[in-house]
Amino acid sequence: MGIALILQTGRYYEVNMHQIGCPLCQKAESDFSRINEGINRAATLTEKASHARELIQKVDTLLKEHEKVERSLAEACRAVLNLRKKAAEMVLKLEKVKR
Ligand SMILES: [Zn+2]
Repeated sequence: MGIALILQTGRYYEVNMHQIGCPLCQKAESDFSRINEGINRAATLTEKASHARELIQKVDTLLKEHEKVERSLAEACRAVLNLRKKAAEMVLKLEKVKR
């Protein structure tokens, strides 16, 4: 339970993203896959946290870019992006607890 589950949920949404068909999100997808893989593969929480920070930055940038996207589409995207952010924030919280 926890991070793995949420990241897997993120992956589930990622698949759905193709169907939603937002060009911004599609473009970002390979970055998200790469960062998520980094989080999953990292041996230490410190390493996971550094990937998590990158993910949060990426999400924030994308959320900003979505201000110009059609509203109904952007809402779906925002829901997914916020989920990604939550997962990343959870990694950061775990890192803090460990210290
Ligand atoms: Zn989008």
